[in-house]
Amino acid sequence: MNLKKFILVFIPTFILLSVIIAKMGYSWWWLLLFCLLSTIPLVLGAIYIEQNFFIRSVNSLQDSNLPNIKDTDIILTFDDGIHPLWTPKVLDILQVQGVKAMFFVIGKNIEGHEEILKRLVHEGHIVGNHSLTHDMWFDMKSSAEMAAELEQMNSTVANILGKEYTPVYFRPPYGVTNPNLAKAIRQTGMTSVGWNLRSMDTVAKSKDQLLEKLKTLTRPGSIVLLHDRCEISVDTLTDYIVFCKQQGFTFTTL
Ligand SMILES: [Zn+2]
Repeated sequence: MNLKKFILVFIPTFILLSVIIAKMGYSWWWLLLFCLLSTIPLVLGAIYIEQNFFIRSVNSLQDSNLPNIKDTDIILTFDDGIHPLWTPKVLDILQVQGVKAMFFVIGKNIEGHEEILKRLVHEGHIVGNHSLTHDMWFDMKSSAEMAAELEQMNSTVANILGKEYTPVYFRPPYGVTNPNLAKAIRQTGMTSVGWNLRSMDTVAKSKDQLLEKLKTLTRPGSIVLLHDRCEISVDTLTDYIVFCKQQGFTFTTL
């Protein structure tokens, strides 16, 4: 279900329920209960980007409409960089393994690490936009404030790398979407990118646990969410890529 379908179901049901309650003399608490229950799909839609509730995102390679996708293709994505220590280590591993990936970079993390950003694109990886601040209150901002963040992040990258590297893909911070963000993404003409394999590497307790989860959940077309600010992800990466290769998976980017 997306927002339009939700509204199309909610409004007639609300009116019908109001009429029934008025005619039959039932308690108006039923209407309040209905409204409270109706917030559930809204909350789930905001939390789970895969639902495409407020905006359609590319959550798998099958969603991407890219030509020449192979059945074996998957995409590795790394969020929250640039990290001065771990991003270069991720790049080292990708270079050794001959794998291209996507990095959804936080704009404010670029300052002082411009060389890492340059290395990233020179080695054939894609720089995506993961907002300027990744502020914990990001989702409370107005659509104009969000659009400004997206544009500032894009110009930060363009100023360092050149206009041709201006990010076109945006990953919402925390994967949370809402109507304001949907509007900001549309205004800036960016494409929202989610995932269908959330590794939860930021809270993984051990390398073995993380690797097992990745091995179990990887499917053709997977868009894998990892973080290049996490040591555990760096520690797991080589083994995971080797596993994927053994299984016949190939790596691509949007
Ligand atoms: Zn993030």
